[in-house]
Amino acid sequence: MSIPAPVFETLDSTEADQLSDTLLCALHGVFPAGGLRGMGDDNLLRATGSIERLGRAVDALRTETAGEIAHRSRTSLGSGSLAVQKGCRDAVELVRRVTLASTGTVRRRVTLGTETRAQEALSGDLFPARFPHIAAALTTGALGVDAATAILTALAPTRTRADGSAVEAAEAELVAAATGAGPDSALPCTADEIRGQATIWRVFLDQDGTEPAEDKAMGRRAFSPGSYNTGDGLIHGRYALMPEIHAKLGKVFDACLTPKTGPAFLPEGDTGTETGDTTATSRQVDPRTPDQQRHDVFAAMIDGFARSGQAPTIGGASPTVLVSVTADDLESGTGAGFVSLGGPTGQTVPLSLRAIEQMICTGGTQLVTLDQHGALIQLGTEQRCFTGAQRRAITLRDGGCIIPGCTIPAAWTEIHHVTPHAEDGPTHPDNGVLLCWFHHHTINTSGWEIRMTNRAPHIKAPPWLATDNHWHPTTKSPTQRLGRLRRDRA
Ligand SMILES: [Zn+2]
Repeated sequence: MSIPAPVFETLDSTEADQLSDTLLCALHGVFPAGGLRGMGDDNLLRATGSIERLGRAVDALRTETAGEIAHRSRTSLGSGSLAVQKGCRDAVELVRRVTLASTGTVRRRVTLGTETRAQEALSGDLFPARFPHIAAALTTGALGVDAATAILTALAPTRTRADGSAVEAAEAELVAAATGAGPDSALPCTADEIRGQATIWRVFLDQDGTEPAEDKAMGRRAFSPGSYNTGDGLIHGRYALMPEIHAKLGKVFDACLTPKTGPAFLPEGDTGTETGDTTATSRQVDPRTPDQQRHDVFAAMIDGFARSGQAPTIGGASPTVLVSVTADDLESGTGAGFVSLGGPTGQTVPLSLRAIEQMICTGGTQLVTLDQHGALIQLGTEQRCFTGAQRRAITLRDGGCIIPGCTIPAAWTEIHHVTPHAEDGPTHPDNGVLLCWFHHHTINTSGWEIRMTNRAPHIKAPPWLATDNHWHPTTKSPTQRLGRLRRDRA
């Protein structure tokens, strides 16, 4: 197949369109639309590799054009800047308007294009690009934009702080690893692998660089509560954690999300440990995604801290969430109340009666009841909350969330009224059991049933777990379990 190869600039726009069409025709001749469907497995993979190479070559041209436009739009040109002449603020805006690509993509192209563009002296002489090895490998289509950006991002900050020849040696080695041309490389590395290698090179080239980078990160660390989104009923915040804080948080999540306690519904004589099967069974018990589980662990952590007695007080009182609801809604258990989010905005958002009931049950909440005219009927009393002494007693008996397979520790659990307060269930240890935030929140819908027999909590699994459908005593307390074991063996 022969494709005319005129210099693009000599073409008028009709001819340029024709050339693009010819190239596209050639491409579609080799890879007709939908033609991959009947292809054999190995051929499909070969085609994928070939298409990626074409894509890399096109990406190299995209990078080059973006770099050239950025050069012609450099701020030192003032009103002579190409971007300004076309009515755009900068090169990124101009390229975005021409290509319709996203700002992030265009920014990456402009940076890469600028750093891999041959440099010009005032005399007009050309010097190699600041990153000549990346430039060369991009042009041949051997190096992809992802890997090139990873190398550039890691090495660019070291240029002013490390020896120039050492940085170039690092660049050459990383490009060789990415293209499979290195002496040790059996295969080209993926962009993700290159990012890891490039980070190690950055630390090696700039031994002291980590500290200033950390100082900068320290200034940008954040935990932004965000705002309430009426669309999905969630508060969308943002966090940017220091790596060591993230590592500690990860450890806490890991500790709570690794089921240590096997489910209590194994057949007689089967402890589950011999088969190593406890995890699999516990996973069946838990329908939550890992993200949802981490949310729930976080919820439990906050409650645990607020109750620990170590949380700072506000005006002498422990932190109390204000919830307002009308007496009618509270009585009927329907409708909604409002919770104040606190913080500088003081936003108030609606909350279902179910969630409000749970908050009241848990404590740390003051309920303000209003009549239909808006008069204060009642400031919440403490009588619906279990006292510290009652909580300690229940903790000794239950040892943690009583749902089998749940690993939330006792200090992070809430106390659930087995017979609801609204049905005259007393706030007494014989009517309170430990549940984690999630199992408390879903206790009316999950199918788990709880009842007190001989003043001890018993539990029945939901039908979807397909167990024996019997009531079983349940506890996580080691003392209780030892006692039960002794009784069973006697
Ligand atoms: Zn639980």
